[in-house]
Amino acid sequence: MARIAYVDGRYLPLRAATVPVEDRGFQFADGIYEVVKRIGGRLIDADRHLARLRRSLAALRIDLPVSDAALHRIVKQTIARNALADALVYLQVSRGTAPRNHPFPADTRPSLVVTVRRLKLPTEAERQKGCAVITHPDERWARCDIKSTGLLANVLAKQAAQEAGCREAWLVASGPAGDVITEGSSTNAWIVDEHGVLRTHPATQRILGGVTRSVVLEQARELGIPLAERAFSPAELARAREAFLTSATSLVLPVTSVDGRPVANGMPGDTTRRLMDRYAAHCGLPAEPPVRG
Ligand code: PMP
Repeated sequence: MARIAYVDGRYLPLRAATVPVEDRGFQFADGIYEVVKRIGGRLIDADRHLARLRRSLAALRIDLPVSDAALHRIVKQTIARNALADALVYLQVSRGTAPRNHPFPADTRPSLVVTVRRLKLPTEAERQKGCAVITHPDERWARCDIKSTGLLANVLAKQAAQEAGCREAWLVASGPAGDVITEGSSTNAWIVDEHGVLRTHPATQRILGGVTRSVVLEQARELGIPLAERAFSPAELARAREAFLTSATSLVLPVTSVDGRPVANGMPGDTTRRLMDRYAAHCGLPAEPPVRG
């Protein structure tokens, strides 16, 4: 079935849906986006995604061009027109269309695009075996907390991962106390360190505060897992007992190899599996089958 997109007040077949060449999203990546998944007819963590959308917009001083109620209607309509129970809803807001000039244009209405595509969750084999990542320099700007459509450094990192036969690139930035892993090119990065403490980079301007990350942090606390929102170094990663990544579309996914070397014994760890199951339940998905011997 042909996909339908919402573009500034109109529902159009995706292949006919366009924005003007002078759209500032196209000219300057002057816009933000949000990605929400829908499973079994239910939008997962819609409120948290909407709150982050609002934060990103506020940080760039872009106004949402429609009311909250209208946005809900548009998302609902776009989903209905695409007839998918399990779907990925993509929202993008740019500062709008104006003759190309760097400063904000006066009186320009921001543009809103909503698209829906099929949700592709990790396969059972990926969940059971875990995935491979590379480390890669973090070449992004200093406001990674804004979900900007300016993703060139993320694109280059993901491409490097793909060329290395890996699912993701974990980004290495220099911090005051040496190199640290900030996050993945489109996922948040986690380890269970050599002392058994669950670690992930704190939600500073150097990472995107993942919605999945925020849910998994709460669930780890509920499960009584020792936890520190403290960055880990590539050396700590090399000594980690477990590693995994999170995102709305990857869910909780074990990382079992880094730069071609196994993480611990190369199998998903216990803490990772507990969090995978807990997060799957949050999404209304079945738990993992037990490890096959
Ligand atoms: N970091 C980056 C750079 C991302 O692009 C994403 C995906 N939006 C995430 C982390 C994970 O965020 P979420 O859990 O909200 O999908």
